[in-house]
Parts: sequence; C-alpha cells; structure tokens
Amino acid sequence: MTPKEIRSYLDKNSIQVKPKTSSKLMRFIGWFLAIRWFWKWPINIKFMSVYTTVINRDVYYPSSWGIFDLDNDRHVTSHAVTFEHEFVHVEQRKKWKILWQLTYLFFPVPFFFAWGRWRWEREAYKVNLRNGRSIDSVVNTLWKYGWPWPKSWMKKWFEENY
Ligand SMILES: [Zn+2]
Repeated sequence: MTPKEIRSYLDKNSIQVKPKTSSKLMRFIGWFLAIRWFWKWPINIKFMSVYTTVINRDVYYPSSWGIFDLDNDRHVTSHAVTFEHEFVHVEQRKKWKILWQLTYLFFPVPFFFAWGRWRWEREAYKVNLRNGRSIDSVVNTLWKYGWPWPKSWMKKWFEENY
C-alpha cells in the first residue's frame, strides 16, 4: 500500500495511530508478558519495543519506530507492510466483533493450542510472506505470540497454503 492508501484506510475506519507507551493498557500488557510465569521464559519481552498491536480502533506502534509521523511519507513507507498486516486484523475485527478479540486471546486456550490466535495471525502474516518474509522467519515470530500453535504444524500449514 502507498502512504496515501494507508492514510485513507485509517481515516475511513477512524483508526488512531499512537505510541504504545501512551497507553496504560499497553504498558500493563507489556509488563504482564515480561513476567517469568513459566520458569525462565517470559512470554514476550519485546511487546513494547518491537510489536505493533491493534485494539479497538487504535493501532499502537512500538518504541523501535522512534518518533513516528503519519504525515511523513518516508516514515509511513518504512512501516507499510506492518500497517497492511494490522489492517487484516481490523477487517477481522469488523467482521467478528468481540468474538475476534476473545478468540484471539483465549480460544480454546491462551497458549500452545491457541487456535484462534493462530487462525487470525496466519491470515495476517500472508501479507508479510507476500512482501518477502520467509516461512521460517514468520513461524519464529509467531512462536513469540505466546506459543500459539506447534511450530512444525505452523510451518507445514504455510507450506501447504501459501
Ligand atoms: Zn498480527
């Protein structure tokens, strides 16, 4: 997508783009995911610094984006793939409403066999694959989404369906 298309999609859907640090909820989630619940493994320590997250009508960008200016074409272009990925989630949410958020987090369980999260992310990660990411790299990233699905199953699914 071009910067112009991205801005018009955001406008049309009344989506705000904000830094994660500006949100108490994001900071809470970041803290929660960084706790070592499982012996020495935190769920994800890079939630605040690396991952972009959609909640309700907001796109929260991580600290690695630095100072981000939506009116700056160069800034928007360098994150265009991420925006396109997040827009897949916006569409999922429009269609499934609250069910999307609930199944994303908890269906049927929050970890290891979190089919919901895997289902929503595999659709969105097709954007990244189309833009040159490898299946292995996508699977490694997805694994950090709270171990949603066995790695070898994810890899196999992408190989067969992409
Ligand atoms: Zn995603």
